Amino acid sequence: MKFTVVGAGAMGLRYGVLLQQAGNEVEFVDAWEPHVNKMKEQGGVYVTRDKENRHLVPVKVYTPEEYHNTDSDVVIFFLKQMQFGEMLERCSHFFTDKQYALTGMNGMGHIEKLLKYFKPEKVLAGTALVATILKAPGEVDFVGKPGAGSMNLANYTEKPDEMTHKVVAELEKANINPALTTNFRGTLMAKVVFNSVVNTLCTLFEITMGEYANFEKADELSRALIDEAYDVCERDGVKMLQTREEELATVNYVSKVANPLHYPSMYQDMSKNRPTEVDYINGYLVKLGRKHNYEAKTHAFLTNLVHLAEHTRQERLREK
Ligand code: NAD
Repeated sequence: MKFTVVGAGAMGLRYGVLLQQAGNEVEFVDAWEPHVNKMKEQGGVYVTRDKENRHLVPVKVYTPEEYHNTDSDVVIFFLKQMQFGEMLERCSHFFTDKQYALTGMNGMGHIEKLLKYFKPEKVLAGTALVATILKAPGEVDFVGKPGAGSMNLANYTEKPDEMTHKVVAELEKANINPALTTNFRGTLMAKVVFNSVVNTLCTLFEITMGEYANFEKADELSRALIDEAYDVCERDGVKMLQTREEELATVNYVSKVANPLHYPSMYQDMSKNRPTEVDYINGYLVKLGRKHNYEAKTHAFLTNLVHLAEHTRQERLREK
């Protein structure tokens, strides 16, 4: 199968490199020029696993304007939500109506944008349950051993077709561990709810997931956010995959057992003074609630706190 990966950041590289190593043809398109130039210069990307075994993986990489191939079967998107609209526009010249679009981006807001360019029956989206770090231009660290992590995905139409199963088979061969569901919004919102608790709080307090979950009042904090998020989702008719109590248990399991030492990706953005995706996570819940005259007050407050932290960091940088 042929894949074009749009967004050769941490996750785009992880999916693309693994799919390439599983025997697929993969091409990368990225707009961050220092990163694209570095990969061209060194003939690929340097990959480490848990910071070890640094080695060069050859990749083909292009800027959107350089890329004109229209023969890929699937276009994979891994961008930050706020980059997505502009990147779709810059790449639209190589999309065709035969191609499938696959994404595992966090947050919500990307699906409506994707549907402007791809037919609903060609849209596959999910959540990537794995951590990857773009350390510097041309340098990526895959967190976890080979086979670590997984993804949940669903068709926008909730009707898997033959191509969906072929894509899932390639993801399986690449050790990405996909689980196909037929509940589109429930699948995506499960991660939004999780991130709205763990990513946001760990980012604000600059703590690991384990430090958060082991705080004695963590369940109280998590429950308040989960309850509000579920109130919103239920009002919007989303069929959630888990009950509220099960969601709390997932927050605790992932934070205490699976990844206690991990700083969520939102923290990584904040610490690099990059904008976070909070408007597409907690902020999305607030917007969705308002559609139904429900005020998700705690999520609104947290969204503003994250913006205050972003703003403060920018001010400090200006002062230096
Ligand atoms: P990323 O920031 O590594 O890359 C996204 C894009 O930003 C790429 O085009 C990259 O080249 C560009 N970029 C990176 N650093 C830049 C800089 N300093 N200046 C300008 N451009 C820069 O993003 P990601 O971590 O791959 O995330 C993509 C999506 O996947 C997001 O929605 C994210 O929340 C989600 N996600 C990430 C992880 C993770 O562990 N990284 C896990 C699950 C989901």
